[in-house]
Amino acid sequence: MTSSNRIWAASTQRWPVPAKRRRWVRRTRLQTHWWPDHDRKNREWIAAATPLVAKHEAVLKPALARAFDTPWEKRPIHVEMRYYVTNASAYTAIFPTLITVSSSSPRTVGPAMVEVLFHESSHALIVKARDELSKETRNRKTELPYPDFWHALLFYTNSEIVKKQLPELEPYANKYGMWQNNWPLALPVFEKDWRPFLVGKGNFREALKQIVADSAK
Ligand SMILES: [Zn+2]
Repeated sequence: MTSSNRIWAASTQRWPVPAKRRRWVRRTRLQTHWWPDHDRKNREWIAAATPLVAKHEAVLKPALARAFDTPWEKRPIHVEMRYYVTNASAYTAIFPTLITVSSSSPRTVGPAMVEVLFHESSHALIVKARDELSKETRNRKTELPYPDFWHALLFYTNSEIVKKQLPELEPYANKYGMWQNNWPLALPVFEKDWRPFLVGKGNFREALKQIVADSAK
């Protein structure tokens, strides 16, 4: 027991709690009350997702690499499990790719486990497509309808490819109304200009140029 603990334990006065003590209380509560449950939930998520990834990765990795015209990373992608992820179910840092996924989010269960893991992995693959969209937009001296238009393309591409493997998946953007609420102009353009490329017709750069031609303000 540290000296600050003894001071706290002996005191009957409402003294300000030292910062060190506050940290200790938080840590202790987490370890004794929440952490075992959170750890168990994290491990359950990993146990459920691992065989799904193993079953589908041999198809999904090359399909996404082709769609984004970017090789899949050679080394394994690290995924951190967290019980809570604030304001999201998952997020990703790139260079190097580090994915963080919530094990408690109701949005990342069943086939959505595969969707979220490959969506987050695709954040490392979409840089080239994002640059192409920006370049074509500059060439045309125009603007795309949404600043995060590239993210709409990522959602569309990943869910189209994952859904082929897992037909029971209801894609995240459909399920949570993102095509209506976030990017109402994007879906018809992707259906017309990007879907043919995803099923093997045309090429990456021409498809993106057409997307800009049909989306620009
Ligand atoms: Zn994303």
